[in-house]
Amino acid sequence: MVLVPVPALFILRLFQVNETITFGCPVLECRKSNDALNARFQSIEAGPPPSAAAKRGARSKPTKGGAEPVQRSGTRAQRLLKASVEVTKWRSERAPAEHIGRAQARARCGKKGKPMPVDQSVYPAKELCSRCGFCNTSLIAQVQDACAFLGAGMARIDQLEHTVHGRPRQEEELYFGVQDGLRPIQVAPEARTGRRAWTGVVTSIACEMLRSKAVDAVLCVSSTVDKPLEPKPILARSVEEVLQTGGVKPMLSPNLLPLEELWQVRGEDIQRLLFIGVGCQVQALRSVEADLGLKELYVLGTNCVDNPRNAEALHRFLQSASETPETATGFEFMQDNRIHVKHSDGRYERIPVFSLKEPQNCTGVIAKSCYSCFDYVNALTDLTVGYMGVPWQGGRMTEHQQYCVVRNERGQKMLRLSQSVLELGQAEELQVDGRLSRQQLLPEVLRPELDLAFGQRKPRPEPPRWLAELLSEVFTWLGPQGLDFARASIDRATLRNLVCLEVDLLKKRAGQQMELDATLPKHAKKIRSQYQELFETLLETYRGKQVQ
Ligand SMILES: Cc1cc2nc3c(=O)[nH]c(=O)nc-3n(C[C@H](O)[C@H](O)[C@H](O)COP(=O)(O)OP(=O)(O)OC[C@H]3O[C@@H](n4cnc5c(N)ncnc54)[C@H](O)[C@@H]3O)c2cc1C
Ligand code: SF4
Ligand code: SF4
Repeated sequence: MVLVPVPALFILRLFQVNETITFGCPVLECRKSNDALNARFQSIEAGPPPSAAAKRGARSKPTKGGAEPVQRSGTRAQRLLKASVEVTKWRSERAPAEHIGRAQARARCGKKGKPMPVDQSVYPAKELCSRCGFCNTSLIAQVQDACAFLGAGMARIDQLEHTVHGRPRQEEELYFGVQDGLRPIQVAPEARTGRRAWTGVVTSIACEMLRSKAVDAVLCVSSTVDKPLEPKPILARSVEEVLQTGGVKPMLSPNLLPLEELWQVRGEDIQRLLFIGVGCQVQALRSVEADLGLKELYVLGTNCVDNPRNAEALHRFLQSASETPETATGFEFMQDNRIHVKHSDGRYERIPVFSLKEPQNCTGVIAKSCYSCFDYVNALTDLTVGYMGVPWQGGRMTEHQQYCVVRNERGQKMLRLSQSVLELGQAEELQVDGRLSRQQLLPEVLRPELDLAFGQRKPRPEPPRWLAELLSEVFTWLGPQGLDFARASIDRATLRNLVCLEVDLLKKRAGQQMELDATLPKHAKKIRSQYQELFETLLETYRGKQVQ
């Protein structure tokens, strides 16, 4: 879900620790390199003081572990970043030359942590934790390298992209990430599944991966009958189980939790896995991919932004948007500047974004992890599915076209195996010129968004419904469309999060203090450079305030 994608922001306009890091490798045969890495890190971190080194004009002494000595340069944060990026590169490149199997991988596990209980209240990333489930598994020992909100965090995406897709992101891939194709997509009408968010592309691909035996299990997000919007991640073994998991559960979800089952007897026979998830979860997964003892891992993801932090937050948002929040089974901010809410009795509400009731009550709905996130398009998947790049077609979301970004050969394979149920369009259909540019609109939409984040929104009277409907129509006609709508959504989330981090959240990151740029992937810095003046003005406006 998108709490406030692009045009939703028009709305807002109108109505307004210091910690020692060690790098751990759980596989015994990697211990030697692990020691060398830790030594290298220490060498980077604790080399001779610059003045002494400069005086001698010499390099630091070789370290005990035999790591190549490194000249100490830059701030501590820069050195930590460098070390962290090297470890990410090393970890992700060390997939075993031959498949060793789960039991062996587990037996070799030299550094297995004690999983945190699921009702744990404080996690390593503290306030910024997205409750991704990683820390509820034995993999927790590697949290410093895997978590998207610790150390260099999402800056590691640059290196991981290279490792996962075989090349870095190119200039023209700034917004949607490494790609081997970007196409409109939908499930053919006669093949659509019962439970689905849009036309059910994700569920259908997952079913075809199981039917074709390309995978033994699918890790996806189910829910219970009485709480259809609350996530319950599962390892599904059958098509029937997967069919029950369609639909977005708009809340932070511990998707990595079922990975623990891979280490237990129940998961022993899972050699080929399809993982479905969002950016922060996929980053943690990719960081430990080589340790899972899987023969094959496929990653199918969705775009993701502005997730509510828990059930209470979601309920607060629904009260603002819907007349009957208790029967809501799904909702989306659509490209027609309306929030479409699906209900259990089949009803749809279409609420103009300008008609939200008391929008100031939505402060504190979005999770702080999502205010620190720079992976809207889920860059480390093999295939990402979303809706925001498709021009508005009218009708219901469950009948509306979607789009996909194929990132590599595994992504192509998923589409090939599912071709009997999918309809793919042409990339050109996504290129539609809007009448106003996103650059013109962004300043107007960012302030109310930031007011919401920092708890500065003031109550204002709602406009009459007819006016709200008219405004939604006008903005849909005037605003960016297709891929440009998606770019505007990404610009908005990126700039807003840059301000939230710099003004407040960076201080709240657990562990060593980092400079903002040391935690950012390259694409976030490039987007900022397009709006440098606006960014600095917003920093001045919100300096000293706290994200709520
Ligand atoms: C939290 C969230 C926010 C999103 N925001 C945007 C957005 O801003 N722009 C955009 O273009 N698209 C966004 N999407 C993607 C979009 O809403 C649809 O999920 C996507 O188009 C796939 O639709 P579908 O009908 O193919 O999915 P379905 O076939 O219905 O399958 C949905 C899949 O999503 C998984 N899932 C459900 N809830 C979660 C969760 N909380 N965390 C992780 N995985 C989950 C389930 O495992 C299921 O397999 C978001 C998705 C999620 C989960
Ligand atoms: S985001 Fe995930 S990996 Fe990071 S601290 Fe939270 S549960 Fe652990
Ligand atoms: S917006 Fe980012 S941090 Fe929040 S749930 Fe989605 S991927 Fe994770």
